Amino acid sequence: MTKNDYIATPKRTKEILQTYDFSFKKSLGQNFIIDSNILRKIIEYAHIDKTSGVIEIGPGIGSLTEQLAISAKNVVAFEIDQRLIPILEDTLSAYDNIEVINQDILQVNLTEIIEKHFSPDQAVHIVANLPYYITTPILMGVLQQRTSIESMNVMLQKEVAERMAAKPNTKAYGSLSIAVQYYTEASIVMDVPKTVFIPQPNVISSVLRLVRRDQPLVHVHDEDQFFALVQASFKHRRKTLRNNLQTYFKGTLDKAQIDAFLRKADIDGTRRGESLTIEEFARLANTIYSA
Ligand code: SAM
Repeated sequence: MTKNDYIATPKRTKEILQTYDFSFKKSLGQNFIIDSNILRKIIEYAHIDKTSGVIEIGPGIGSLTEQLAISAKNVVAFEIDQRLIPILEDTLSAYDNIEVINQDILQVNLTEIIEKHFSPDQAVHIVANLPYYITTPILMGVLQQRTSIESMNVMLQKEVAERMAAKPNTKAYGSLSIAVQYYTEASIVMDVPKTVFIPQPNVISSVLRLVRRDQPLVHVHDEDQFFALVQASFKHRRKTLRNNLQTYFKGTLDKAQIDAFLRKADIDGTRRGESLTIEEFARLANTIYSA
């Protein structure tokens, strides 16, 4: 097969869409890639090789799935749109290492899928051009399931990718950055122009790489309390940390108690939440909640 025959070309994609009289569903975030060079780069950045297992979310007509099948050992792809299942059977018929499952990714038990479709010694990665309307629930859902997935390499809106990978003291830094970086090392590997999609999305896209940490970045006594404290600290971004904490703990802790906890955790309450590192948030949460 030559590069010109790949699904991810304007010519073949248009042919497939025409043959099946396919109409895009905006509500399912359907923007298909028509440039195989971009897909090759994503796969290269994801370090996929012939031993890798890959889970794809939303194969569409199979443009990325095809490139993954060429590079990886095997691919399991979840597609919610039933209309695409017979199309994928046709477009991917030349490959025997792909399994397409007609299921909503938000309903999938990934641990079971990994046990069933991949061997115990196989490194499993997610590679996907995500449906943009549910990028955060998909990624947070995967992270919270605590699976053995080694890395997630996903295309999503540039603005959301920036929030997930943001460092303290930047506008993009917030509770989402902390939730993602608690579980993974996050980096943006490239931006993707609108012109490589059909139809073209309204936003610029980026490829985000998340590499799972063996242990969460920090140890916290209680994750729910930690994440709730982080959220409260960013609630009013222009307010000081102390002010946000006073609002959050109203009726539970008084001002003097909050100041005492801040002192004990060695954190200046006049700082803003956006200046605290994840380690500092953990220290503060552990000080307050172990009291
Ligand atoms: N991978 C293809 C490509 O790059 O050309 C298509 C990507 S398109 C941005 C997103 C795909 O995700 C669509 O095929 C859409 O039908 C599918 N999708 C949307 N919501 C989904 C869900 N909850 N579970 C699984 N697939 C979903």
